[in-house]
Amino acid sequence: MSKRIPDTAAWRPATKLVRGATRRSGFGETSEAMFITSGYVYDDAETAEARFKGEAEGFVYSRFGNPTVAMFEERLALIEGAEACRGTASGMAAVTAAMLSLVKAGDHVLASRALFGSCNYVLTVLLPRFGVQSTLIDGTDLKAWERELRPNTRAVFLETPSNPTLDIIDLEAVTTLAHKVGARVVVDNVFASPLLQRPLALGADIVVYSATKHIDGQGRCLGGAILGSKKYVTEELTPLLRNTGPSMSPFNGWVLLKALETLSLRVNQMCGNARTIAARLSDRPGIGRVLYPHLESHPQYALARRQMSAGGSVITLDLSGGKPAVFRFLNRLRLFDISNNLGDAKSLATHPATTTHQRLSDAERAELGITNGMVRLSIGLEDVEDLSDDLAQALKV
Ligand SMILES: *Cc1c(COP(=O)(O)O)cnc(C)c1O
Repeated sequence: MSKRIPDTAAWRPATKLVRGATRRSGFGETSEAMFITSGYVYDDAETAEARFKGEAEGFVYSRFGNPTVAMFEERLALIEGAEACRGTASGMAAVTAAMLSLVKAGDHVLASRALFGSCNYVLTVLLPRFGVQSTLIDGTDLKAWERELRPNTRAVFLETPSNPTLDIIDLEAVTTLAHKVGARVVVDNVFASPLLQRPLALGADIVVYSATKHIDGQGRCLGGAILGSKKYVTEELTPLLRNTGPSMSPFNGWVLLKALETLSLRVNQMCGNARTIAARLSDRPGIGRVLYPHLESHPQYALARRQMSAGGSVITLDLSGGKPAVFRFLNRLRLFDISNNLGDAKSLATHPATTTHQRLSDAERAELGITNGMVRLSIGLEDVEDLSDDLAQALKV
């Protein structure tokens, strides 16, 4: 343990990302240690008893907690401005656990329709099996939120910006409406990352992440996180996690902890590259629409500026020539990889209609505004001129 106790809370974000929640072992290592252990030993039987009773500090089993994972959780909580955080094996483990922690049979869940595919499954297939009803609405329509919230709505779930149309949902307005019926608001903050948008400060109750995306950002491992109040995490979430076991592995926890050190550098650079590319593509022929939250042409530009400190790393294009134009474009890319991941150091491009949103019917895709000409670009860390050149040659008619 360090002898100096710094005033962590007063640190600015970049400092928190590098040093927050570091706990050194007796060896005084510079870099945070990776505790690859499933269990822990006790000096005596009394200590074991006290730890199991929760009367003594310390770890008991890595399904419940692990020192490396704990450093990741505490550092992410510092950045998010949350009282508490729990790491999970993947983003979907985080979403599933957060939802299961809030509802029981007879409850209702209201969610925005523009959801990551597996989140859609959890809400519309899994929860109803256990007697929890769910309704999906257009998240940008505040009247729809007002109309569909019910006295038994216990949880609201939404993603903003959404995938792949980059719709922006007014977090403050939706939260105010949800709280009137006593529902808690869960925000999937993956597209914005913890650095661009602060759902808890805008009133949301719980934030979930796929740490696989910007937080790792280097394509190495899966991970997830759930953040909220200390009371929620201790009393409602932790019992569920302890007893069902969607734990983050200590190795992944270590990779993600070290990745936080460079998160602001990476996200800032990606956002700068994305803004430049979005602006350049805006007046190119052959592109019906360029969707990017901080471009003035975005339908919710004012809200995006108010709610997000930068526009993010994802740009969605709608090519006038439909699927053939997209396939031709994707197959001509030399630098961008064709991949459905996002938030990575490497720039990636995907055709949502035939990949991430393939399982939806034509009507469902139409309802979400996903056209056959849409292509989603995740802008990485390469030189922006090389990325621009690659897009220009692939778009050339
Ligand atoms: C990737 C993603 C998830 C799921 O995360 P995994 O780490 O792949 O389980 C959930 N929500 C959004 C918005 C995502 O992009």
